[in-house]
Amino acid sequence: MTLIERHKKAAEILPVAGSLIGGERYTSGAVGNFDHINPATGQAQANIALSGTDAVDAAVAAARAAAPGWRNTSGARRREILEKLAELIIKNGEELATISTLENGATMGFGATRFVSMAAEWTRYYAGWADKLDGLVVDTQRDEAFVYTIPEPFGVVGIIITWNAPLLSLAMKTPPALAAGNTVVLKPAEFTPFTSLRFLDLAKEAGLPDGVLNLVIGGPETGAAISAHAGINKISFTGGPSTATKIMQSAANNLVPVLFELGGKGANLVFDDANLAEAIPYSATFSLVNTGQGCALPTRLLVQRGVYDAVVEGVTAVVSQYITGDPLEMTTFAGPLVNDAALQRVSGIIEKAKAEKAGRLVLGGNRPGGELADGFFVDTTIFADVDPQSSLAQNEVFGPVLSIIPFDTEEEAVEIANSTAYGLSNYVQTSDMRRARRLARDLHSGTVGINGTGNMHVGAPFGGVGISGFGREGGREGVMEFVSTKTVLIG
Ligand code: NAD
Repeated sequence: MTLIERHKKAAEILPVAGSLIGGERYTSGAVGNFDHINPATGQAQANIALSGTDAVDAAVAAARAAAPGWRNTSGARRREILEKLAELIIKNGEELATISTLENGATMGFGATRFVSMAAEWTRYYAGWADKLDGLVVDTQRDEAFVYTIPEPFGVVGIIITWNAPLLSLAMKTPPALAAGNTVVLKPAEFTPFTSLRFLDLAKEAGLPDGVLNLVIGGPETGAAISAHAGINKISFTGGPSTATKIMQSAANNLVPVLFELGGKGANLVFDDANLAEAIPYSATFSLVNTGQGCALPTRLLVQRGVYDAVVEGVTAVVSQYITGDPLEMTTFAGPLVNDAALQRVSGIIEKAKAEKAGRLVLGGNRPGGELADGFFVDTTIFADVDPQSSLAQNEVFGPVLSIIPFDTEEEAVEIANSTAYGLSNYVQTSDMRRARRLARDLHSGTVGINGTGNMHVGAPFGGVGISGFGREGGREGVMEFVSTKTVLIG
């Protein structure tokens, strides 16, 4: 079978995507229906009904109507529904992973399958919080009131997410919001609605009442309508910093609190004393996984001069072995970018970096041909000797492009690492644990990963500083973002 035939066959599982509000599915959109383009083939593969701002009103109304019932549902029942949902995510894992691959090009072997298991993990973890949100009894003097607190939901939470890992993004936000007793209006990016829709189907199957979780499929105007809506009580957003600014401005009119998970330009500091047998494959793989479309990936590799040549050579050798190709094949490492706009943007960044001599191109830098020519593919690309102040090193690429930068001292490495406006995740490879602990403090980011770790753990807070955002997802902090604490004083 050719690539096109394989994808055509796989795409038979995609439904017509339309908003799902109060349990009702809309298969024709107020704004119109448009074709979804498969990123690997460049061909239309499904239809999306795009809702307008009237759907936001309907979704907020449905969420408000469902709010009293859900907030008064016992924590034990909320837990049971979310646990069942986690089970259903695993049970339908292969289908969800395939949809995810068709939706945005995430590779089955290095992205989609992992996102499914992480989505289940986050859902199960927050299921466990639903019946453990306790209040406090406050110690008062005997003549004063009896004082205690009640954890309450905000009401209706507006969740707006982006396209790079929609199933995981929504699972980081929706289960904790629901566990805390909120109802939700969810808007994925308009060109990645399919995994969100399937998540809602499974939530219904798990017993979630209609109206508790509503999906609106629409573009930026629809997102803007959610962030400006007087019926929304809290906003949780994953996307770019410029969109976050607009959301904050409109949320300000209603004094609605916001949580922002924005971009990143992570630095990975490899010191002379690092265990290179581990640091090289780790640094190569982690910087380019999900075709570089990850906010917390270590896309700047900072290497100490003593091991610089060995690391450049080793990382290039590892990446050269990786296959760019059909994302449905388990052995493919890098798939296509999400759409033509992303392809044009990333290709433009690579061409600009070449023209400005921002660094020395050591791998890639072009587009693959053959049967990949009609998809949104870019070769995995490595620049060495990158100028840390160049646009390539300062701004998010969100594509398969790694920048390698040399340094001499720890101080210089910290200065380079902290020189961007972002602050999501940084990484350190060293065998000196004192240095590791020093750097854990000195690096300006919400997360620091030391010696070959991932960038998040469901039980720990994840989020940024600087223009990477504020608020935290994961752990207790992640559910407390959706809790409003009421204090009761009894005389
Ligand atoms: P974006 O900000 O353009 O869009 C994200 C979402 O916001 C989409 O659903 C979009 O329709 C909606 N939107 C657009 N304009 C809006 C407006 N005016 N008001 C309300 N909603 C609006 O996102 P992007 O730039 O395409 O996404 C990539 C960004 O997301 C990158 O910066 C990436 O690093 C970041 N990201 C962050 C995380 C994280 O957890 N920190 C995770 C993934 C992606």
